[in-house]
Amino acid sequence: MVVINRGAHAEPGTSLEFKTGNWRSSECPVHVHAKAPCHAACPAGEDQQAWFAWLQEGHVEEAWRELVSKNPLPSVTGRVCPHPCETACNRTSIDSALAIHNVERWLGDEAVAKGWAYPVEAPAEDAPCVAIVGAGPGGLSAAYHCLRNGLRAEIFEALPEAGGLLRSAIPPTRLPRPALDAELNRLLALPGIKLNLRCKLGRDVGLDELKHSHAAVILAPGCGLSKEWNIDGAVPTDLHEGLHLLREFMDHGEFPEARRVAVHGGGNTAIDLCRLMKRHGVEQVTLITASALPGPDTDPEDLINVVPRELEEALEEGIEIIEHATVKRLIMKGSRMTGVEIVALKKLLGTDGRMHRVQFEGTERVVSVDMVIPCIGERVDPEGMHNLMNRWHYLDARDRWSRTPQENVHAIGDARGDRGTVAEAIGDGRLAVEAVAARLQGRADPVEDTRPEMPASGLNPVYFGRISRTAVPKLPVAERTFEAEIEGDIGRMAALREATRCLSCGNCLACDNCWVMCPDNAVIKTAELASDGSHYVFDLDFCKGCGICAKECPTGFIQMAEDTWHEGD
Ligand SMILES: Cc1cc2nc3c(=O)[nH]c(=O)nc-3n(C[C@H](O)[C@H](O)[C@H](O)COP(=O)(O)OP(=O)(O)OC[C@H]3O[C@@H](n4cnc5c(N)ncnc54)[C@H](O)[C@@H]3O)c2cc1C
Ligand code: SF4
Ligand code: SF4
Ligand code: SF4
Repeated sequence: MVVINRGAHAEPGTSLEFKTGNWRSSECPVHVHAKAPCHAACPAGEDQQAWFAWLQEGHVEEAWRELVSKNPLPSVTGRVCPHPCETACNRTSIDSALAIHNVERWLGDEAVAKGWAYPVEAPAEDAPCVAIVGAGPGGLSAAYHCLRNGLRAEIFEALPEAGGLLRSAIPPTRLPRPALDAELNRLLALPGIKLNLRCKLGRDVGLDELKHSHAAVILAPGCGLSKEWNIDGAVPTDLHEGLHLLREFMDHGEFPEARRVAVHGGGNTAIDLCRLMKRHGVEQVTLITASALPGPDTDPEDLINVVPRELEEALEEGIEIIEHATVKRLIMKGSRMTGVEIVALKKLLGTDGRMHRVQFEGTERVVSVDMVIPCIGERVDPEGMHNLMNRWHYLDARDRWSRTPQENVHAIGDARGDRGTVAEAIGDGRLAVEAVAARLQGRADPVEDTRPEMPASGLNPVYFGRISRTAVPKLPVAERTFEAEIEGDIGRMAALREATRCLSCGNCLACDNCWVMCPDNAVIKTAELASDGSHYVFDLDFCKGCGICAKECPTGFIQMAEDTWHEGD
């Protein structure tokens, strides 16, 4: 071990000669590489701290390569992910969270512009091939991770183009199609991935057939059918449901004529539809939702399930939102709609011991509208997968690796019923393939990362100055159209600056504090990396357990643990 000497602090006759041996207080320092909260919160499994560390040193391509080792679509997620990583970021306790999604997007776009090669190798000609049903983000991620695991992938997609809801539902103002195409085309061009378009499971190919012809099957069909809308009394004969209208609009740029519209629901489809209709010229757009808007007293369980910045922008654009309410009845004059009767909802404890939303009799009121659009959620189109459906109309995926009751068949993404974001579908794709690869290579399931998370209270904030979060350019409401992207690019300088704000939670950032401040020279700095990935080791012969190193460690990487040192160790 090559030791980097601290020199003048350690003259003969000082603590260098006076070993403490085991007469330490009851604790001794240890290095604990805890999980950063951003990483723990990222459904795609990214290690943001690792790619920020590359950026801090100006190695942009390495940062991207680290990022895409988990998530092959950073241009996409950098634009649409609700970024739970930022909600969890410890930097909030000092000033504000890192702009992780903006840097992620910049890295993705930079890779496309520079043509950087994905960190994958072409699999062998005779490598096992995995059948993947659906070319949405879940299926695409699974295909990419097949290559990273030495497997080939064959995708079966019902539609004429790949992308799933990224293409058919998310508006270009949030995900411009050139950005989507650029990233998808690069991924689909990788050797080892075969894409069959217009090939629907249940119509053009059967599940049993795929199980026989491939080493494993990963189902990623998303949720293509709308849930049934239960409402008292008559409904208009030309009732349109939300996802269908949105898809029609993506294809033809038209909505049915209406002056005042009520959208009933509370997810991404509902919010996107409200915003597009308003921009299309509908005078009054009202969202009626059983969920709650964010506020200091909002129960997280009730919170409306949409990307927070989309909600903010919808309010900016003049969408009216009526929370804690549902549509009870439609008010019709002949075949024409004139309004909806809505009623407030409250939560009551049921006989099953769980809270249920019930209608609050006496709170009924009428909202005048000439069109109502149900957007109450989607379910799986069961064609070709009937045997795998559960009673909630989703595919029966049972564990972290999305295994179904059928051997070698996994079901990932929205089709599981407990997902709902692009990053979750991407994360599922990776985990399912890792389990498939482990099985094919005769290994046990991949080990889950059970390290503890580093809370903000475990950091020493004294060592971090306040640095404001990068401001993100945004189109003013008056300039928003159907095509122009609303959120802008932050650019290279801001991305690199943002990286310097990372606190390296739970991981050594080589600040030398422990090495310099230990009064007993018990911290040794080494030229080579130690087994825990840092350049520091403790010489317990000299440590007396004062804990100064742990207190002065900015990142919480040093913690005091029970001393188990024995004479002769
Ligand atoms: C309007 C809207 C806005 C959204 N906004 C956001 C957002 O801002 N951020 C976010 O993170 N998430 C958002 N979401 C959710 C996100 O789009 C989904 O969670 C994600 O796309 C799920 O990916 P997936 O691969 O599971 O399914 P999908 O994207 O639905 O892809 C499934 C694919 O499978 C194909 N398929 C279906 N059945 C078959 C079959 N039998 N045979 C062959 N192919 C089949 C489909 O054609 C489709 O291409 C939004 C959703 C909607 C509807
Ligand atoms: S995928 Fe989402 S949660 Fe993960 S790093 Fe990107 S923005 Fe954050
Ligand atoms: S400061 Fe850095 S490591 Fe810590 S949570 Fe935020 S992004 Fe992650
Ligand atoms: S004090 Fe600095 S050098 Fe020492 S372990 Fe903590 S972060 Fe690393």
